Amino acid sequence: MTTTNRPVRTRIAPSPTGFPHVGTAYIALFNLAFAKANGGEFILRIEDTDQTRSTEQSEKMILDALRWVGLDWAEGPDIGGKHAPYRQSERSGIYKKYAEALLDKGHAFRCFCTTKELDQMRAEQMARGDAPKYDGRYAELSREESDKLVAEGKPYVIRMKVPTEGVCKFNDLLRGEVEIPWEQVDMQVLLKTDGMPTYHLANVVDDHLMEITHVMRGEEWINSAPKHQLLYEYFGWEMPVLCHMPLLRNPDKSKLSKRKNPTSITYYRDAGVLPEALLNYLGRMGYSLPNEEEKFSLEEMIASFDINRVSLGGPVFDVEKLHWLNAEYLRELSPEALKNKILDWANDSEKLTAIAAAIQPRIHLLSDAVNWGGFYFQNLPDISAEDFVHKSLSQEQIIEILQIATWKLETMPVWSEENIFATLKGLSGAMDIKLRDMMAPFFIAIAGSTASTPVMNSMYVIGADMTLTRLRHAVDVLGGLGKKKMKKLEKTAAALPDFLQ
Ligand code: GLU
Repeated sequence: MTTTNRPVRTRIAPSPTGFPHVGTAYIALFNLAFAKANGGEFILRIEDTDQTRSTEQSEKMILDALRWVGLDWAEGPDIGGKHAPYRQSERSGIYKKYAEALLDKGHAFRCFCTTKELDQMRAEQMARGDAPKYDGRYAELSREESDKLVAEGKPYVIRMKVPTEGVCKFNDLLRGEVEIPWEQVDMQVLLKTDGMPTYHLANVVDDHLMEITHVMRGEEWINSAPKHQLLYEYFGWEMPVLCHMPLLRNPDKSKLSKRKNPTSITYYRDAGVLPEALLNYLGRMGYSLPNEEEKFSLEEMIASFDINRVSLGGPVFDVEKLHWLNAEYLRELSPEALKNKILDWANDSEKLTAIAAAIQPRIHLLSDAVNWGGFYFQNLPDISAEDFVHKSLSQEQIIEILQIATWKLETMPVWSEENIFATLKGLSGAMDIKLRDMMAPFFIAIAGSTASTPVMNSMYVIGADMTLTRLRHAVDVLGGLGKKKMKKLEKTAAALPDFLQ
């Protein structure tokens, strides 16, 4: 089924586990355009069931970034609405009730496997060359037996029952009928040992309770559709229309990744892309207006929106093209309007004060601020491999340092000066390189020169996204690492301790 008689409601449901990704804004944009074009509403829900990875800082950045780019939601955690709360961690009582209802109806079962048992099951399956999957060992346990184990205090999760044979068929608005054999679908955990739901349960329950009629999301979720369809059937609820959007790609057609392209909205904001240009560019991902116009506003997109114009060929997110489009926007402004845009962009009081504090000991004239403070506002510094030459570090060592630091810094839960220091100090200890020596390449990567303000403070002030983009750029400028060396380095990095503990 691809239509519904209910008033159209769509949503974006980000997990606050990292930076605000351009892919989130792209999916949000199409949800918003579809809802508005059909006289409906677009809402925002935070999916933070993964409590170990979700952070408040990430949620705030995602909301700020989506607002900045010009996407507005009618209901959400920050503004409330008739289905509040909109943050799943505040709704945990709801999901338990629904998981238990499935248990009572025999559509779900308690699984008492220990982690060790599950590991062994997986190891055996892999040794046989099978794809690892839950083998259903508790699926047929009687309710009495299951209750008895609970009374004995055995920990358990609740899993959904899934047919073991046949083919699941579901409809996708862009793809028509899709078929996935049931044997590829796992008996998904719905409720974890601690009583928290998994994504699948919380997502289906909330989409139902929040009266979502169309689920438009990235195509990486297509394999979850059979589980979701089954859950809707088990609950006896009308299923939203599914629409899996093509994933954004790097120019080489691989899945858009921060290694090859900056992916954070905050980075593009800080580099000076206009929000209307970014939104326009995202609107062109796999989509074109009926008049083929390249430059259009959100209102124009909504006015002529037709989901059938989305093409499934992987849309390429090309930074050069984005810059070209941004320039088009800049050129059409009056000099006065452009001046105001520049001032608005630079006018971040907190950032400016931090820069003033950093350059204060170094300047004699106000005009010195341009030399000392310029790099804070730059996009990528103009650097070459020669700039990194160091008396005691080889080029390869420098690449390794910058690469490992990038991995370590990007997983820090909070971007603070203390955390940056602890991470880099920890790294210098682990790599047995004096901190002073180790920091030299960071000065080049971040400020373009070793004669600069204290670099860890600069990293904090320019923010996580700009810092990480400049570090990745530095690795590229230095020639990067081959695939083999990169794999090895990944292992080295994974074996390092968490420096923040
Ligand atoms: N929380 C999921 C995500 O982060 C939402 C997926 C969906 O839209 O169902 O992408």
